[in-house]
Amino acid sequence: MPRRTASPLLRCASLLVLAGPVLAEPAPSPSPTPPRPAPVAARPGGSGALAAGPRVAAALLAEETVSQGAWKKLEWLTDRIGNRISGSPAADRAVAWAVRTMAAEGADAARAEPVLVPRWVRGEGSVEVTAPTTRPLAFLALGGSVGTDAYGMSGPVVAVSSLEELHAKGGEVAGSVVLIDKPIVPNGGEKDGYGAGSKLRYYGPPEAAKLGAVGMVIRSLGTSSMRLPHTGGTGYEDGVARIPAAAISAEDADLLARLLASGDRVEACIRLTSRTLADVWSANAVGELRGRERPDEIVVVGGHLDSWDVGQGAIDDGAGVVVAMETLRLLRALDLRPRRTVRAVLFMNEENGLRGGEAYARDHAAELAHHVAAIESDSGGARPIGFYLDAGAGASERFLELLQPLSGTGVAHLLGKDDTGADLSPLAQSGIPRLGLRQDMTHYFDWHHTEADTLDKITRDELALNAVAMAYAAWALAEDAEPLARAVPLPVLTPVPRKGSR
Ligand SMILES: [Zn+2]
Repeated sequence: MPRRTASPLLRCASLLVLAGPVLAEPAPSPSPTPPRPAPVAARPGGSGALAAGPRVAAALLAEETVSQGAWKKLEWLTDRIGNRISGSPAADRAVAWAVRTMAAEGADAARAEPVLVPRWVRGEGSVEVTAPTTRPLAFLALGGSVGTDAYGMSGPVVAVSSLEELHAKGGEVAGSVVLIDKPIVPNGGEKDGYGAGSKLRYYGPPEAAKLGAVGMVIRSLGTSSMRLPHTGGTGYEDGVARIPAAAISAEDADLLARLLASGDRVEACIRLTSRTLADVWSANAVGELRGRERPDEIVVVGGHLDSWDVGQGAIDDGAGVVVAMETLRLLRALDLRPRRTVRAVLFMNEENGLRGGEAYARDHAAELAHHVAAIESDSGGARPIGFYLDAGAGASERFLELLQPLSGTGVAHLLGKDDTGADLSPLAQSGIPRLGLRQDMTHYFDWHHTEADTLDKITRDELALNAVAMAYAAWALAEDAEPLARAVPLPVLTPVPRKGSR
């Protein structure tokens, strides 16, 4: 347990932990029982998904609209458990809650599958301008950052917008605090620059350190700012000095840029008590509904259960988690038991390690040949707009055909193949058809990885549509007579560095 300063706030938190039973999460009470349509299971041995699809889609929509099952779970996860970084007590509570809830809602099996995770602790600190004026900046340490001593690390600010520009500065960087100042563009989440920006965030500290920098700050990777800093993972290289790294708000990056433009010498100081502790055991939460004909064949639905340690982890990725959990509940509530098994996997440690995704691929290696599809939702809880799909020849056409009963919801679209979810990337080695349920991301990067990632950013109706889209897609893929064609297996992926998390 990290030593903590005894502020009144932390003392209160400690008392709550000691109180124990106060925080024991019950499984949510069963959803009210509205009048339900007649059971809609496909005819055993019949042509399957296409024949029953329209009735299944309508039944799922009716059930979720009335029950709001996904919303109730998300409300509990965000308001009662809150943010849940890997290795934290809140992450442990989230795993226990998810397993208990899936069991209480009728899953045939629900379990925690152990995953060894990194344990990074944010601590406290400050980022300040110290010349030509003094001003505290709105900041969040980047995940994985080292801390400093009580005096912090200070130096003249050198601003760049790319790693090329950083290297071009050469000797000017020695002893400096590097500011990486590269705005990302709000354009609905597509080609917004987040992927490129997250590489700057990840590689910035080691590249700056190689040139002698003493610290790095980066303009937050956000598409809107009300002086909100956005955290996210950063990286270090063996044999290269580890320098403290933080994100500052867009407004504060602009302040530094204006001061630099004046020609004055601008200095900044970073003080952090962040630190990385020893790895600890955590878990992926797994639940499943066994298939009626081919229980050994598996369709995975998932999201990531961990979040950053700010806000509530509602859009990233509480929404994906509850949509996967709700898939099991919906299929059970409607007496839909497809041919194949549907398995919800709530991955741990997507944000700062991907250990959950790697552990799943490793621990289930023997059955990956029988995984027929895996779907992840990790782009928020706004209106669903379609799916990414990475699979073999003819799979797109067939999946689009299967989706047609959802055409009235706006989700019956294929968007490409390159964004099917970080947690599923280790499955690429096996050629499993991988899918990503995609939401309208117009505002996603306004709140992503910030204190403002809270439940109010999601509406009940849009979350319900996501649950229906995920449940329907899982049902169709688990019911269809033939699985989608598999993709060409990719070579073993190196886990990090990787594209920034969604
Ligand atoms: Zn995410």
